[in-house]
Amino acid sequence: ESKLQLLRSHIRAFPDFPKKGIVFRDICPILKDAAVLKAVIDLFEEHVRNSHQHVDLIVGLDARGFLFGPLLAQRLGVGFVLVRKKGKLPGPTVSVAYDLEYGKAEAEMQADAVAPGQKVLLIDDLLATGGTLKAACDLMRKMQAEVLGCMVVIELKELNGIDKVQPHNVFSLVQY
Ligand code: IMP
Repeated sequence: ESKLQLLRSHIRAFPDFPKKGIVFRDICPILKDAAVLKAVIDLFEEHVRNSHQHVDLIVGLDARGFLFGPLLAQRLGVGFVLVRKKGKLPGPTVSVAYDLEYGKAEAEMQADAVAPGQKVLLIDDLLATGGTLKAACDLMRKMQAEVLGCMVVIELKELNGIDKVQPHNVFSLVQY
C-alpha cells in the first residue's frame, strides 16, 4: 500500500496536453526517483510472481513501455522485445494497422522477435482507449504467441480501455 502511495504521489497531471481537453498523466517523476522506480518494478514483479504463470518474454510498447519493460524482464530473468511504431525496426517485420483518434497507425515487430507458442506479457505506461494495447495483442496473435496478460502503470478508467483489450486482462497499478 505504501508503495502505491509513493507511486501515486509521483504522477503529475498536465491539463490541455498534448491538446485542449486532455489531461496528460506524466510518469517522468517516477523515473527520476530511484526508490519510486524500484517500487513500481517491485509491484509489477509481485503481480507476475503471484500469478504463478511461466513467462517467456516481456513485450514493451513504444515508447514508455520501453522504460519499465526491460527492468521487469531483468527481475524475472527473461528477455525483452519491442513493439514499435512502423518504420523503426530493421529486417523482416510483422505489423498490424489500427485506428487512432485522428487517422491510422501501425504497430510493428521484428519477425523473429517472438516464436509461436511463446508466452508473453505486454507492458506500457498507460491504458487510455486501449487501441494501442489491442493492436499489440493482435500482433501477438499474428505471431502465434500466447498473451498471458497486459500491465500498465496507469489506467484511465472512464475510457473503458479494458473492454477493447479483452479477452486479455489488463493489470494496472494506479487508476484515474
Ligand atoms: P490508447 O491507445 O488510447 O490506450 O493510448 C495509450 C497510449 O497512448 C500509450 O502508449 C500511452 O503512452 C499514450 N498515452 C495516452 N494518454 C497518455 C497520458 O495521459 N500520459 C501518458 N501517455 C499517454
